[in-house]
Amino acid sequence: MNHTWNWITGPEGRLFSSGLTLVILALLLAMTYRLLVTRRRKAYFSLSVSLGFLMGAYGLPILAEYGWTGSRDELDYTAQVIETGAFVLLNLGLLQLYKAPGGRERMRFYLLLTVALVLPARQWVHAYELPADVLLDLYRCLLAVYFFFSVGPFIRENRKYKLFLGLFLLTELMHLDNTYGHEVPKALPLLLERFLPVAGAFLLFLIFLNRLVEILQSTYRSAITDGLTGLYNRRHFLNVLARYLKHGIPVSVVFSDIDNFKKLNDTKGHQTGDDMLAAVARILQEESEEAGLAGRYGGEEMVVLLADTSVDAGALAERIRSRVEEETQVTVSLGYSTYSSGLTPEQLIKQADAAMYHAKQSGKNQAVDYEAMAGPKARQRKRG
Ligand code: GH3
Ligand code: MG
Ligand code: MG
Repeated sequence: MNHTWNWITGPEGRLFSSGLTLVILALLLAMTYRLLVTRRRKAYFSLSVSLGFLMGAYGLPILAEYGWTGSRDELDYTAQVIETGAFVLLNLGLLQLYKAPGGRERMRFYLLLTVALVLPARQWVHAYELPADVLLDLYRCLLAVYFFFSVGPFIRENRKYKLFLGLFLLTELMHLDNTYGHEVPKALPLLLERFLPVAGAFLLFLIFLNRLVEILQSTYRSAITDGLTGLYNRRHFLNVLARYLKHGIPVSVVFSDIDNFKKLNDTKGHQTGDDMLAAVARILQEESEEAGLAGRYGGEEMVVLLADTSVDAGALAERIRSRVEEETQVTVSLGYSTYSSGLTPEQLIKQADAAMYHAKQSGKNQAVDYEAMAGPKARQRKRG
């Protein structure tokens, strides 16, 4: 039994686990550094620097196995000191991925970093036997607990982060057991001390990847939506409409324009105007949620794409009209038109717009069907 553990407790095990950890850290560093170059965010800077140092900390033991002629204990101790400092910086970087820490918060991190560097300075005053430094070891345990409570709450989906800290703490406890617990370290604690960091580095990778995907998704979302109303912007709306038409899906378009909006802006102010825009948008959004999608076409003109043929466009337009009248301080005029073959997305919208214009001219606060308005000519074309 003991025999099978031999390679893990020996130098090969150390080489292997450090090598694995190094590979994962190197991949992470490549990602954060690439982002640092293009985005120049503080989080990527903290992460890049801390990952660089962490790689140093995990690389030194490898150096110790190969061709290092100086004191191994000093090398091991240096690795621990670097790891402690890098761990503080790493957690600062993770926090910065989610929020910009305030001045006092940042100061706290710098203080923690200073302690990590001052602790080893005791060596000059009271020489002790390297590489065991129980104060530094306990300090790392404390750091893990501290970050659990101070950084944890700000990390979305923080289960992975807390697990990461848990693994870090467990590694440290194993380190304590191996260093101070027994004359000769036991196999299992040694195995854990060496290989838990591999799992920890992998978790770190996942945490970072998750956050990156999240940032990319929100970037995409803000590129296709309008900030004030949250509706899709005109470009995206037209893209989706074009896609539907290309596949011959018989969609309808509802075009809505707020009545006397200029006057509302003039009498009640621009802010009230904006609030009404958002309120109308919310109604369009809710009414179209299951049957299609809503977009802001421009100014106070909004459009709905109705992709569900079982929903009647006229009924939908009327529902929007009556809800706006009841729930907001404004009314809307609407026009709607249904696709017939050969129409381009722009033409279909133009028809709905023309019907809306007709609604304006015949008294506002109503919904007009393009076909009914344009008469038999339009209907004939649709049949043909
Ligand atoms: P009508 O009933 O004929 O539509 O009259 P109207 O006053 O609504 O006329 P029109 O549709 O031409 O008015 C558009 C106005 O909408 C002009 C502009 O002041 C206002 N507007 C456009 N975008 C915004 C916005 O983002 N916020 C606010 N508050 N007002 C806007
Ligand atoms: Mg208008
Ligand atoms: Mg208007």
